[in-house]
Parts: sequence; structure tokens; C-alpha cells
Amino acid sequence: MTRPVRRFAAALVACLAAAPTPAHAQGPRPDADPRIAALVAAVSQERLQATVTRLAGFGTRNTLSDTVSDTRGIGAARRWIFREFASYSPRLRVSYDVHHVLRQGRITRDVDIVNVVAILPGRSPRRVYVTGHYDTVNPRGTSAPGVNAAAPAGDPQMRADQDYDADAPGANDDGSGTALTMELARVFATSGLEFDATLVFVAWAGEEQGLIGSMAHAQAIAADKVVVEANLNNDIVGSSLGGNGAVDGESVRIYSLGPEDSPHRALARYVARVASVYVPSHGIRLMAREDRFGRGSDHSSFTAFDFPAVVFREANENYARQHNSEDKVEGMDFRYLAQNARVNAAAAASLAFAPPAPRVTTDRGTVTLGRGTGGYDAALQWQPSPGAAGYRVYWRTAWSNDWERSQAVGNVTRFLLPNVSIDDWVFGVAAVGADGAESLVSAYVSPVRRMQEIKVRK
Ligand SMILES: [Zn+2]
Repeated sequence: MTRPVRRFAAALVACLAAAPTPAHAQGPRPDADPRIAALVAAVSQERLQATVTRLAGFGTRNTLSDTVSDTRGIGAARRWIFREFASYSPRLRVSYDVHHVLRQGRITRDVDIVNVVAILPGRSPRRVYVTGHYDTVNPRGTSAPGVNAAAPAGDPQMRADQDYDADAPGANDDGSGTALTMELARVFATSGLEFDATLVFVAWAGEEQGLIGSMAHAQAIAADKVVVEANLNNDIVGSSLGGNGAVDGESVRIYSLGPEDSPHRALARYVARVASVYVPSHGIRLMAREDRFGRGSDHSSFTAFDFPAVVFREANENYARQHNSEDKVEGMDFRYLAQNARVNAAAAASLAFAPPAPRVTTDRGTVTLGRGTGGYDAALQWQPSPGAAGYRVYWRTAWSNDWERSQAVGNVTRFLLPNVSIDDWVFGVAAVGADGAESLVSAYVSPVRRMQEIKVRK
């Protein structure tokens, strides 16, 4: 080796040493809450891999598959998920959330739809959900191995004559979201930390038949007047390789139902902001739509009842590995799944430590935003949030998607921005706890104008 070459080699070594830390090892920003950083750091890629492998090993988890076997079918899968949740920590209250669903739509016979629920009680009963569906589907499958055709893009319709016991390993759809949910249950329950909100981790059933398990659950909690702060739903979040060859292990898509100041969009913006602090190497691609084109998932059961909800989707999907026997562990990227789990952990923790979002309406529903005594100011009022030590006011121009300015305003419930027109700017307010954890931003939404029919002589 000649001297210049050796010098080059030495420079290369120095350069490699100075190279940025691998994305997953890159630490949180200095303004991070060490409790949240510790939860994020506790996410285990190895555990995620072991869980997905075990879930895929049940062969199928079709909602209408065998429930008697201890090794194959949805019954074995849900009993294993229950035992896993229970093994993490006695702090988790684990239960089967059973709904006796009658034959309807894609449910071709009466069946018990069984969600597996693990609750980590907080100081307050208001809930932060982390969810994924553990059921799988292979509508073209037969029990004979190796004869399943790849499913086309989009949701294939269920056939009444399909073989519910055909191979449907569902490693990614949605073993990935289920494993993420279970891993966060373990991380939060074993952390020794106390949370303000109650954390609820759910593995849904019946998603592939039309969001049956999540809808039955949402229906029930709405009737019980349960307060839901957020639902972080994860469905297909475990592969970085798209069916078109595109590779992206550095970002995730988050879909949220509009309009622009819906509680779902507020949650999506919140996740993006928290992720930038705790998992800065992972990009968040916010999607201003309910879900991918013509497709859906369990977050829509929550939005149907105005519970704030979003769905995480991997950056590039492989449709040839969905809803068939090819959705296998080999198609997964567990480093990528772990990054998505860390984003969920940061967002769920931040929400659960924070006070509830303030209400920006009166008890009768009137929006508490006015023009001030001068007539050209922004006069904001809000109802106090239990546990808040202060508030932060946000605003943005009326055509932009995300908050542009913010100001900490102390422990008050009204604030005046002189000469800022409420016609040209959108406003919101968040509650901040004594430990700095901040709630979702509640936006002041202009009431919908009711148009009256004009009576005219015909
Ligand atoms: Zn799915």
C-alpha cells in the first residue's frame, strides 16, 4: 500500500467514525422528556420479530377460522395474545372483548368477534388507544398448500364459499400492527411510570370483514360515554420494500380524516411534532385523507363516533403480499417496524402524560373566539383542563395546513392577540402539564352556516 492510499484509507476510517449514527440509534432532541425517551428506547426489535413470527405461525387468523385448535386458527392466536399481554406485567388488565355478531355482510354465519384488550390504568379514565387487527384473510385460498393466487390491489371481496382455514399468515397485515401494539403494552406496563391517561392496547378481530370488532367496541364505549383522547391505529407497518421495488425504511404515512381542523388532523399533526423530537431520523408523511384510496381500517370505527383517530401505513406497500398465503415473515423489515413502534410510543406517552386538550366551546357548544373590545383582535377563551399548569396558543394563516406560530401564555383561560384578524387566521390552544407534557391542540372551528331554503312562487 503506497503512502497516499494509506492516508486515504485513514481518512476513510475517520470519516466512517464521524458518520451519523444509524437512524434507529439517533437520540432524541435535547428538549426531550427523559421519561418518553426511555420508553422509546425500550422498544425491542427482537421482540417485535418474535411476536410477528409467532402470529404468522398460527397459519391463519381468519375471523371465521378454527377456534378449537391450540396451534392453528384465530382461537389459538387470541388465547396466545391474551397470555402474552398477561405475562408482561400485573399492571395490565387483560380481557376478551366479546361481541356476538349475527350473520351479516361478509360475516357468513353468526360468530363471536373477540378483541383482546389490555388496559394500563392511569390517574384519569380518559383513554389513549394503541391498536392493530390480529385477524387475517385469504379470500382466494384453499387449504391445499401452494395453490393460492396473489390477490390484486385493493380489497378483494369476501366470497361466501371461501375456505376460512386456508393459509393466511398475515405477518404484515396485520401481524405488524398487532406486534407493535403488544410491544407498546409491554414497554409501558413495565416502565414503572405513572400516566395521567389510561392506556388501552387492543388487538382487533373482524377487521377484514368490515371493521366489525373495532366498530362493536367503539359503539359500546360511545354508549358508555367513555372519553377517548386518541386512537393510534397501525395496519401494515412492517415492510420497507414496496411491490414496485421502491424502498423506504425511513418514513411512515399517517392518514387522518378531515376537514383540516378535525380532531383526527389535530392528532396527526401532534404525532408528527412528537416524532420530530423523539425519533428525529424517521420521517412522518401526513396524508390529508381518511386512508389509502378505496381502502380502510379500524381507525374509521373511532372517527365514526368523533373519537380522534389516525392510521399508520408503511411507506410503500406490496399488494402481492396482502390477503393471501404470501404475507410471510420473510417479507418483513423488523428494523423498520421498530422505528414505527418508537413513533407510536413517543406519541402515546406524550398524550398520556399531558392534561386533556382544553375545550374551546361553551357547554352549549358556542365557539369561544371573538374579536375583542376593539373589534379587530383575536380574543381566545377556553375551559380549564384538569391538571394543566399552563397553556400554549397556536395560530396559522387560514390557507395553511399546519400551525405556524405559537406562544406559551401561562396558566390563564383567556388570551388576546391584538390586531390579529380572526377572519384571516386560524387559532388553537393546548394544555401543558407541570412536567411540560402538552395536549392535543383544540382548534377554534367556525360554525357551519345553516342555509335556509328560500320559498319562491313557482
Ligand atoms: Zn389490515
